[in-house]
Amino acid sequence: MTAPNTIAARARRGSETEGRSTDELREIVFHVGAELELAPAEDIIEWAVATFGDRFCITSSMADAVLSHLASKVAPGIDVVFLDTGYHFAETIGTRDAVEATLPVNLISITPVQSVAEQDATYGKDLYKTDPDLCCALRKVQPLKQSLAGYDAWATGLRRAETHNRVIAPVVGWDEKKQKVKVSPLARWSDEEVERYITDNGVLVNPLQYDGYPSIGCWPCTRRVAPGEDPRSGRWAGTNKTECGIHQ
Ligand code: SF4
Repeated sequence: MTAPNTIAARARRGSETEGRSTDELREIVFHVGAELELAPAEDIIEWAVATFGDRFCITSSMADAVLSHLASKVAPGIDVVFLDTGYHFAETIGTRDAVEATLPVNLISITPVQSVAEQDATYGKDLYKTDPDLCCALRKVQPLKQSLAGYDAWATGLRRAETHNRVIAPVVGWDEKKQKVKVSPLARWSDEEVERYITDNGVLVNPLQYDGYPSIGCWPCTRRVAPGEDPRSGRWAGTNKTECGIHQ
């Protein structure tokens, strides 16, 4: 890694402690957030690993394995958290299994408290139709929050180019709701840069990406999009909902 010495020095000091306080975590964001804004993705991940050690994980939706690939090069054995909502396409589960089989990562599949059948029994059949916000809260937001309890920082594959709502996603920011440091190493990457990294490194990609699904979520809430359409227009199509809530 080629991160500035000032950052590396702070990281070495910080990694000696475990489970920092909220104030300490906020201070880290305050001091290094701007410094890392223009750093290469590998350097950002390496800084996070050096700073937080095993209290840092990455998350993946399994739309592709770009972030998992990058992180596994920097820190083999790193925790990769996947939210298994019970509503994923078979291709997404297949991509998750392929990532676990081929990359040196510790894949952690998180499931909601209730199975889909149990949720249907409690809230009525197909909650995603009647109250998608509650469905996302139960199957994504709460499980992620619980799974991050043992970490000080988490990384996402969030990119500003994906949707206007993500335009202000900082590379290193403070996640107020989760009280964690949120790292987005790919925030500045364009679609072309993602494609180049995939091609150059033979990175796994969810096959649905080549079948009209540039943005992949749960099957009940994801539809194909036409060429030239907003890539995220296939998510919760026909509703005002644009995000599941894990990034809000
Ligand atoms: S994306 Fe749809 S099915 Fe998945 S958790 Fe949200 S509302 Fe439920």
